[in-house]
Amino acid sequence: MIRLDAAKCVRYYSKLNECNSCEQICPADVIETQEGSLALKQDGCIDCGACVGVCPTEALQLSDFNVTEFFFDFVKSDEKIISCKSNFVCLAALGVEYLIALGAVKEIVLDIGHCETCDIKEKCFAQIEHNIAEANYVLEAIEQRGVQAKKLGVQKENVPDRREFFNIFTLKNVVKTKAKIDEQLEALEDPTVGLDTEQIRAIRQKSIPNKRKLLFTLLKKIEKPANYKYLENEHLSFTSEKEIDESCDNCSICYRICPTEALSTTSKASAILFDPLLCVRCHLCHDVCEKGSIKLAEYFDTKQFFEPEAKILAKFTIVRCEDCGICFTYFGGEKICQRCKIEEEEAKQLWGIE
Ligand code: SF4
Ligand code: SF4
Repeated sequence: MIRLDAAKCVRYYSKLNECNSCEQICPADVIETQEGSLALKQDGCIDCGACVGVCPTEALQLSDFNVTEFFFDFVKSDEKIISCKSNFVCLAALGVEYLIALGAVKEIVLDIGHCETCDIKEKCFAQIEHNIAEANYVLEAIEQRGVQAKKLGVQKENVPDRREFFNIFTLKNVVKTKAKIDEQLEALEDPTVGLDTEQIRAIRQKSIPNKRKLLFTLLKKIEKPANYKYLENEHLSFTSEKEIDESCDNCSICYRICPTEALSTTSKASAILFDPLLCVRCHLCHDVCEKGSIKLAEYFDTKQFFEPEAKILAKFTIVRCEDCGICFTYFGGEKICQRCKIEEEEAKQLWGIE
């Protein structure tokens, strides 16, 4: 069964949000996006996990299989093959960030030997191929070994039954699983592996998905490339670089709505800051910006994976309104805030003053 955490799904943040990645990928058509919400028809769910793999915010989870927990067990084991017939659900559930993190720390082979004859290949195999290509695009740029895909056709007879396999996970209750993941994340965040207290605090404070925490924590453990390369933003699905043009009026909606605080502001709202480390490319900020001021930049600098830093996307002058005294974004002319200007206009109309 699939579980939805509505507090994480970006459709619930704004009616303007157009995320429908889960609906698009679902091979059983059990997910339906609606204005400002999502409807799940649990009866038809085939537990493939493809929607889990594409959801930017980890709003969807399978009730009997936890990808983050699989990740930890797999990293610790000598196993290098991931197969839907032995240790995993549909390979489409393994999103790009997990593939990059795994490819960076160990040799992995995805067994695609069953995909061609699979009933759900039409949507899922295309996603698997896309994820592998994107992961390898990033891994190559940061000088790491790639993720391999081979038609191994691992057979069920050699491995525990899927149900038996799922039982391993269902035995652990949700609280225990969560505690274990937090514990393992803590171990990974050990300062001896390269994260300082500041960085650990920053990661903990933001509500960012586990897959993102894992990716950046593991990238801390690998050697930095000799030279940082640029990736084309349009070939990335899990993060982004952004720009804001001069049409922005500092209305504040983008940084107030961003679910991960990738977009933020200063204490006086005099700048818009952007941290690619935290962006999950949910598109929410683009969808809610009335003026269309926020744009995707052309390139993503791989330096962000190793030396992340927040950038200033826009700067503003903040002044006090000469009428009411509140602070507002000033673009020149009279130092009167928008509200006072409107009130003044209304008063003039009421009294017939030109
Ligand atoms: S993919 Fe995730 S965030 Fe997007 S609509 Fe589905 S559940 Fe919501
Ligand atoms: S910056 Fe925009 S695309 Fe990135 S996480 Fe925030 S709202 Fe989503």
